Amino acid sequence: MNGYGGSILRVDLATGNIYKKPTPVKLAQDFIGGRGFGAYYLFKEVPQGADPLGPENKLFISSGPLSGLMIPGAGKCDFTTKSPLTGGYASASMGGHFTAEMKYAGIDSIILEGISSKPVYLLIDNETIELRDASNYWGKGTIAVEKELKEKFGEEYQVALIGPGGENLVPYACINHDFGRQAGRGGVGTVMGAKKLKAIVIHGTRSIPVADVKAYRTAGRALYKACKEADFLSEWTRYGTTVVTSWCDEVGALPTRNFSAGSYEDGKNLYGPVMREKIVITDKGCFGCPSPCGKYSRSKKYGSYVEGPEYETIGLMGSNLGISDIEAVAHANLLADDLGIDSISTGNAIGWAMECYEKGIFNKSDTDGLDLKFGNIEATFEMISKIARKEGLGVLLAEGVKKASKKVGKGSEKFAIHVKGMEQSAYATHNATAMLLAYMTCDVGAHHNRSWAITYDLQVGRDLVVPEKVARVIWLQNFRPMFDVLGGCRLQWVELGIDRDLYVPALEAITGIHRTWDDLEKVGERIWNLTRLFWARENPGFDRQWDLPAPRFYEDAPRSGATKGQITKFEDVNTLLDMYYEQRGWTNNGLPSPEKLKLMNLTEFLV
Ligand code: SF4
Repeated sequence: MNGYGGSILRVDLATGNIYKKPTPVKLAQDFIGGRGFGAYYLFKEVPQGADPLGPENKLFISSGPLSGLMIPGAGKCDFTTKSPLTGGYASASMGGHFTAEMKYAGIDSIILEGISSKPVYLLIDNETIELRDASNYWGKGTIAVEKELKEKFGEEYQVALIGPGGENLVPYACINHDFGRQAGRGGVGTVMGAKKLKAIVIHGTRSIPVADVKAYRTAGRALYKACKEADFLSEWTRYGTTVVTSWCDEVGALPTRNFSAGSYEDGKNLYGPVMREKIVITDKGCFGCPSPCGKYSRSKKYGSYVEGPEYETIGLMGSNLGISDIEAVAHANLLADDLGIDSISTGNAIGWAMECYEKGIFNKSDTDGLDLKFGNIEATFEMISKIARKEGLGVLLAEGVKKASKKVGKGSEKFAIHVKGMEQSAYATHNATAMLLAYMTCDVGAHHNRSWAITYDLQVGRDLVVPEKVARVIWLQNFRPMFDVLGGCRLQWVELGIDRDLYVPALEAITGIHRTWDDLEKVGERIWNLTRLFWARENPGFDRQWDLPAPRFYEDAPRSGATKGQITKFEDVNTLLDMYYEQRGWTNNGLPSPEKLKLMNLTEFLV
């Protein structure tokens, strides 16, 4: 099949049984690749009610038809599983070079099933595929182990691995790669840890078949040319995602002290130019990327080198914890990466604990003697380690803020910032109704990258509750995740503003199939409905309550900053949901209606 590696690799960790089968043509036609393959396999192969950490849960790692080809940003890889954090659908995208090697090894998806009796790593070297003993690596940080594996096999081998957080089954453990890229959200690294799989080492030397080589080269060149000529290229490359920090601070979207405000009085110390000046030593990009957003940094003060921090980590481990020292944020970033835990969920968990401490719900006997006030840098470093190692207060925080706040009670549920159990990424959504709705209805929990609607709020009026806003959120949810299906990066379109229609001839030249963006959005909508069905299947009683945001966004007006005193009313939250369900063709309780399922050709998934 043109554009594909050609096979699905299945690895049973329990029996050691490993085999490949051809990638089904119908699967590629209907679900295209990446996140589409993951959603299909998750629904079909993980039985209803499976324990996310048990042998029945599986981890699906998928490339897309763009992956590994000379298309800007074609290095994205999807990790899908049943989430140990939320109990629902998890899909995390990872950049770097891993997915290109998958394609060069002739693989479109790796399906990991069962549980190994001892720590192992998976070696894939073209046709040599075997599980090897990983006892020597278990317990070690990701940076050291990736280095060791690269020294053992060679620089051209790509490694995806977990740290102690994944081994210790912290439900928001991530998978690391390329010394700083992560599949971060929803606990995909936890599932790898439950399977006792420390790492995957991969290398391939095959070529990828392409339908029309000449047209592929022409379309690829047009895409690169558009990136090169983009006005925003130099600023984007200079600052990466930190380009947005100052804007968020100014408009009240920068999470501050556990999202109690959206502007930070010391925020200037965290802005992109300050970081560039103080700690950045070089730029770093994914496979085939003409606009590298990765920033490699050095903190002299803490003696650390790290890829990052990018905006999300600055928001959650900087302003959200009342920390304005960019070197401290970089060091916290390194600790989380090395220990293999998601910096977004980790920053939220520590922020929630700091607010518990501030309000007197926690005292020093609850915090292992730490003075856990906002701004305490050393206590933050300690807590990151305690969470990953499940020590002291870290045991509670490692449960995620939904479960932790339920245990602690005393009103702490009201400032546990999550949707469906996933901690919110770094946009404060006080009085920003489109972005609030985007978080409420995101398919994995409170994550921003499906529908980044915060700029739209600012354009049209942040407190408006109108059908047009809802339609915008839905359009973004159907369209943006298609980059994760195709195996490419959305940021060339989002940030450089290149014409998305330039991808159409590229995809056609590669696969031999003509698909417009309208066609692709229909696939995106189908996947969105399928993953909603998965949530309902796995969570008896799943209804609109699951889509509610943290009470902080409709009960507590920000104490300071650009949104001081502003709030979204609870009746507006409900109106947003009503409009959303209606436009999606869902019931009033947020479930795809029988007519919608028929329209989406999804009825086969119900039997
Ligand atoms: Fe990777 Fe950033 Fe380039 Fe996207 S823009 S491909 S995330 S380096």
